[in-house]
Order: sequence, then C-alpha cells, then structure tokens
Amino acid sequence: MSELSPMMQQYFEVKNQHKDEIVFFRLGDFYEMFFDDAVLVAKELDLTLTGRSCGSNERAPMCGVPYHNCESYIARLIAKGYKVVMCDQQEEANGRTLVRREVSKVITPGTVLDENMLDETKNNFLCSVFFLKMSAGVSFCDISTGELKITNFSGEDFLNKLKNEIKIFSPKETLIGGDVPDNFKKFIHKFCSFGFRDAQKDFETNKNDIIIFLKNKLNLNLNYQEYENCFTNQNSFIVSRCLSMLFTYLSETQKKKFDFIKDVKIYEGSEFMRLECGAAANLELFETIRTKQKKGSLIWVLGKTRTAMGKRLLRTYLEKPLKDVNKINERLDGVEELINNILITDELREILGRIGDIQRLLSKISFGSANCRDLKSLGAAVSTFESVKNLVKNMKSEILQDIFENIDELRDIFALIESSIVDEPPVLTRDGGFIKKGFNKELDLILEDMDGGENLADKIEKKEREKTGIPKLKVGFNKVFGYYIEISASYKNMVPKDYIRRQTLAGRERFITEELKTIEARIFSAKDRRIKLENKILSEIKQEISKQSERISRTASAIAKLDVLRSFAEVSIENSYTKPVIEKSDILELKDSRHPVIEKILENTNSFVPNDVYFDENNKSIVITGPNMAGKSTYMRQIALNIIMAQIGCFVAASQAKIGIIDSIFTRIGASDDVASGQSTFMVEMNEVAQIANNAGSKSLVLLDEIGRGTSTFDGLSIAMAVLEFMTQKIKAKTLFSTHYHEISKAPINGVRNFRVDVKKNGDEIVFLRKIVSGASDDSFGIEVAKLAGVPNSIINRAKEILNKLENNDIKIEKSSQESPKNNKFFDEIFLKIKNIDTNSLTPIEAMNILFEISKIIK
Ligand code: ADP
Repeated sequence: MSELSPMMQQYFEVKNQHKDEIVFFRLGDFYEMFFDDAVLVAKELDLTLTGRSCGSNERAPMCGVPYHNCESYIARLIAKGYKVVMCDQQEEANGRTLVRREVSKVITPGTVLDENMLDETKNNFLCSVFFLKMSAGVSFCDISTGELKITNFSGEDFLNKLKNEIKIFSPKETLIGGDVPDNFKKFIHKFCSFGFRDAQKDFETNKNDIIIFLKNKLNLNLNYQEYENCFTNQNSFIVSRCLSMLFTYLSETQKKKFDFIKDVKIYEGSEFMRLECGAAANLELFETIRTKQKKGSLIWVLGKTRTAMGKRLLRTYLEKPLKDVNKINERLDGVEELINNILITDELREILGRIGDIQRLLSKISFGSANCRDLKSLGAAVSTFESVKNLVKNMKSEILQDIFENIDELRDIFALIESSIVDEPPVLTRDGGFIKKGFNKELDLILEDMDGGENLADKIEKKEREKTGIPKLKVGFNKVFGYYIEISASYKNMVPKDYIRRQTLAGRERFITEELKTIEARIFSAKDRRIKLENKILSEIKQEISKQSERISRTASAIAKLDVLRSFAEVSIENSYTKPVIEKSDILELKDSRHPVIEKILENTNSFVPNDVYFDENNKSIVITGPNMAGKSTYMRQIALNIIMAQIGCFVAASQAKIGIIDSIFTRIGASDDVASGQSTFMVEMNEVAQIANNAGSKSLVLLDEIGRGTSTFDGLSIAMAVLEFMTQKIKAKTLFSTHYHEISKAPINGVRNFRVDVKKNGDEIVFLRKIVSGASDDSFGIEVAKLAGVPNSIINRAKEILNKLENNDIKIEKSSQESPKNNKFFDEIFLKIKNIDTNSLTPIEAMNILFEISKIIK
C-alpha cells in the first residue's frame, strides 16, 4: 500500500468500504474505474481497458466514462444487477495535487432515480423483510416516487403469503434480516438482487431518526418504547426491524435523511383481495403468459391513463383489488359520473395528457438531481391544475369531490418556476444561462457585466472623452492587452497622468487605467460568477419547492386517481361495460359476460359469444366440460377478470352484474413455466392444489383448469373428483372446474352443477358454438379437434380405429366412474393426505410416496 500514489490510496480507502460495488471515481471530466472493477466494466460495457500508473511498479487497469453522460453507463450496469458507488470531488482542484473525494451516492437496482433506468408505468420497489419465527415484517419503498408501504405476515402460511406479495410488487432489490428461512433464500435468489443485513445493528443505528420520521409522516408522536409498539403489539418488533434495515440502507446509499419518503401506508393484507397461486400471472393481468407482452393483458385493455402517475396507480389497483363495498362503490360512482359527463371526460383526457410525472419530478427535486428542464416540466404540469380543478368542480360524487379538494393549484410554485427559469433552458447547467433576467438583482448585475463588454466600452469612451477633452479617444479590446484606451499621437500632451502606456503604434498610443482593469476583471469573471450564482439560485428554488412537497405530492395522488377513474370511464364507454352492483352477499351473477381481452383481440368485433354465470350460497361449484379449444378456460378467466374489474372500481364486460365481494382468487391453470421451474407439471399442480386446499375460503373464487392432467387417467380422475368434492363441501368456495374427464360430471356431488361448452357435430367436423349450456358433455371430441388443428389424416384415421377398439373392449374408464367412490370417509382420507402435505418442505420422493398411498386407497 505504501507504494501507492496518494490518489490511489484515496481510491483504496473508498474501495475497501465498497468491496461488492463498482466504484466510479471522479477524475476531472471522467469517472474512472480501476483494477478488477475496470476489467469487469470494460467487459460488461465494451469499453477500452487502459492503464494508469498508480505509484507501485504495476500499472492499474483502468477504464472510464465521461461524467456528463455517465447515467447511461450506470443504467446498463444496474440492469445487469451491479451496484455502483459514485465517488465525487468535494472541492475544486485549484492546483491542489490531491482533492478531497467522498462517496456521494450508491446506486443499486432498488434505489435508482434516473429516468433512463426506470419504467414510468411501474413502481421501482426496494423491499425489506425481517423474519422472526413464523412471521415477517415487510416494507416496499419506491424512492423515485416517495412511496412506502408497510405490512406483516404471520401464521402457518406466512411464507407463501410473503412470496405472493413479493411476486405482486416485484421489487428490484430486497434486504433480508432475522431468521431467514432457507426456502426464502432460494426464492429471492431467483427473484431479484438481494443482500443480508444485521437488523438489530441497523435498529440501534437509527431508531431516533425513525421515530422522528414516523412522527412527521404518520402523525405518530412516539417515544422509543411506543415506537416499538406502534404496530399491533405482536408485530411491532418485526416491523420496526424491517424499517430499520430499510432506513439504514437508504441513508447508506443516498447519504440523505429520509424526507424524500412522502407517502407512507401501513396496510393489512386483509384489506385487499388476495390474488393467490400466481393468479395475477395466470389471469394475465399485466402481461401475457406466453409472450410476456403487455398487449393481450387486462391492463392493456383498461389502461387509457394519460399520466405516468395514473399508469402506476392503475397497476397498484390491479395488484390490490378492494374488498370494501363502500370504497368500491365510491370509485364506481365516480366512474359513472364521468361517463355521464362525456364532454368533461374528453377534455380531461386532453389536459391530463400534458401533465408530466410529478411524483418522480418531485423526488428528483428532493434529491437535488433535478435539472432546469425538470423544473419546467413541473411548471407546465402545475399550470394545468386550475383547468383540471374547474372541470371537476361541479361533480357530485364523493370521490370526485375529494379529488377536487386535494388538487392544490400550486400557484406559488408555478409563479416561482415561471419567473425564475428561462423558457428553453439548456440541458446542462455548467454554462449557466438558465435563470431569467429580473429574478435576482445580483445576477442582473453580473449579466450587465457580461454583455457590458460593448456597452461599457462605449460608456467609458464617452466619459474619458469628456474628462480629457480628447475628441478622438477610443476604447478598444485585443486579446493581448484586454481593454485599452487609444489616443492619436497629436493629442499626446493631453493624456492624463493616471494613464499607463502599454503600446506605441504608428501615429497613436494605447493606454490602460486602473478603472479599466477593474472593469475588465469584472467582465472576465462575470461568466464564472454567473454560473456559480445561477446554480446557487437553482438549488434554492429546488429547496423552496421541496418544502412544499406535501402539497405537491397530495396533488399528484389526486391527479393519478382522477386519471385512473377517467380511464375506466373511457374504456367503459368504448366497450359498453356496465356498472356492477356490489354487495356483501354470496351471490355472483353475470349476465352476458365477456372476456374483456379476448373480445378485443378477436378479428370480428362482436364475434365474442357472451355467457352467464350464477353462484349463491347453495350453488357453489360449476364443472365445465367440453372439447379442447371450446372456450372453457376463457369462460373461467372472464368471470375472474370481471370480478377483479368490479373490485378495482371499473365497470364490467357484461350486460348485468351483481357481485358479492370475493376476498381471494386462486387459480390452478397449467402454466407454461411449469417445466422451467424444474419440477414436474404434476408436482407443481399438486403443490398448488395443496395451497388452495389450505388457504381458500367460502368467499374465494377458485379456478381449477384441468386438474389431474399430469398423471395417469385413474389417478388424475380420482384426484380431480376428490378436489372438487373438497372445494364444494368443505371449503364452500365458488369453484369453476374445467375438465376433459366427462366422467366427473356423471358423479353427483351435492352443490355441483354441470355445464358444457356447446359444440355442433357435422359428420366428422365440429363447430364451436362457444355457448355455455346446462348438462355435461359426453364426448371429448379429441379426434375432431386434432383434425381441426391440422393433424394429418392418416393419424386421424388411425386414431379413430384405436378409439373404436378401445370402446368395444369396454375400457375401464366407464367402470371407474361407476365405481367412483361416493362415500365421504373415503374422500376424507385422500384429502387428509393432501391437506397434510407441507408443500414448502416436500421432497419429490415424499410426493411419490403420498401419491402411491392415494392411488392405493383408490384402487
Ligand atoms: P379450452 O379451455 O376449452 O381449451 P379456450 O378457452 O382456450 O378453450 O378457448 C379457445 C379459443 O376460443 C380462445 O382463444 C378464443 O379465441 C375462442 N373463444 C373462447 N371463448 C369464446 C367466446 N365466448 N366467444 C368467441 N370466441 C371464444
């Protein structure tokens, strides 16, 4: 070490503190990386690897990026999962051999702020989880919008619930502390960037800051002990530890206090509908399963939002549908009023389209990283608020009134930005020129000095002519002498004594004066002074705006809400949705319901065949049979999607809808990622069946698509029937059960109704009618569907022959269904087996054994 140059020693002091991160070390106009970091970054970003003498014998491998566009390089590193430490100069070089450098920021996937690294339609969450026994305190924080959500999970199934929550919010980075279960480590390893923390140490580090923070943000005026108890007693410990990890990490990375967190919510999982077992993915709420594209998802249909805040809020709504009848109705009433005021809704569409991302602008302002263009965008957004307010002023619904009240016109902010920043500010602040004339007196003087060059020359010329009486006295400028006074030789004897001769030319002489030199110095330094002062003014403006962040943030939330409701109104009009009746009952009734996405994708509009559905306390389960491709899974999904739409406050794709609140949706739909997960399709399926059996309740909607497909016919059939019976009789969930085992519909189970998707047979051909009708299907039409799909005729014909033989041999399927056990004890035995499966620890061998036992019972 002693051989290293002083700068390299300084570098190593930083690097030793940040072994796991890439250090961007500021050297003049570049950020340089050294040694292993340089080798890594050169490879990852395709940069040239050079070397730099570092005092020792060897040269340090080095690569660098220009500081003014370092963001794009950092973005690429973050996207690859790396963390970057910015080590900046803390003083001007001014001839020093070594300037002071300090880490100014650590950029990690969960703490990025640059818009190049963010998706405007999604929150960028940093998650922190603290585990204790069978519970976890969890928080999700988006520093780019200033939002923080806090909750906790406990009880037997807490780990599944936690994983489900993490899947829903999909954080980019997770901090973990406490007794972390191995199972969770494996999960998070695959899911996002993560790091372990010592929660107790973090807690000791910043408990006072957190107390102040909670006091300010949640109006919780607490002492230390009370802080520990501010969440429900039982969970206060885990939540406080989880927040400690988050806050310590934030202060380590942001080097700032936490005032950038503006919107804090403590929520209980029970406030929202639970979307379990990958329901959000299976129902394609945000992207399609196969292509992972937004097009074809529910958000693609519902997303007519115009602002980035609205886009993110719509996503949040879909992630967490409501369960409270009143809150849902509030939204629905707002949407209805907007539909009834179509002209206003149209006008809002146009105005909202002009509003930038206030939340993220505000965060950039709080962090000090906003530039003048950001401020101008904020100004432009704010300038629309008055019209927005006027448009909703006369609305009667509670939610729109509330929005009206929460939009602050922020005239002071508008006036401040308008009067201070020039209309078209430069991107970079390094040359100045972004503060308006007239905003600051001191700056005005400097500006005068700057364009003073010519004026000043004229002024001084006039003054000196009067003073000396020399009529042809001239003030000029050249690069060597700067400003000078020129007098022709004939007036030589009139030159005042204080003139200092600088140059003699043919027939004339050039002089300078003290005054001229002073003025000259002012002019020369004006540019620097201007840049410094303008930057100072800019940071004062940002501080001024930051002070108003509560008002701005509240307005941003109101605008986001309005944007989402307006979007619901627009799609409801466009697609002829209807307002659902929401109630607490057990009824679920949809008339002429459609699949909101498929109806948009079908080439012929109006070609989607609508279908009804009805559930009440005595009619819970529906079995849907029908050939492949008939429309079974479309039907099941459309029911779930319409319920979700209703419970986020949107109108629904049906002619009539009555919806008793559903508190959770479970799906078991064969997903294409089964294979990728490394488990067999059947294992994944049984795993989910176990989760559903353990977690669904009477207010759940359960979609079971072709259960038992992944194993032999008898096993599959038996398990399918047992599951159906359990869901109907024990859980009493609203269950939609599609199957190609038409034998199932022949076994009477109390409370189960049989429907089929109708098809018409025309000789060898089948025509899909897409209509759900009562009764079971008695044919699977597999061969006809295969033919439709273009399987060669020789195979089709051979299949028919085989089928004939099988049928003549009276293959045992019929028998099995006749023998299908009807006594409950038998089913209970099977179900006890399934119920007792601990899916978190089940090994494949154990699974095989259980399956073997089940199959023995059945046989
Ligand atoms: P299954 O689950 O029975 O195999 P799907 O539900 O996947 O069948 O439906 C197959 C296709 O049929 C869908 O992709 C869609 O294009 C079409 N379809 C389904 N239901 C309808 C309907 N009600 N009206 C029009 N087309 C439909």
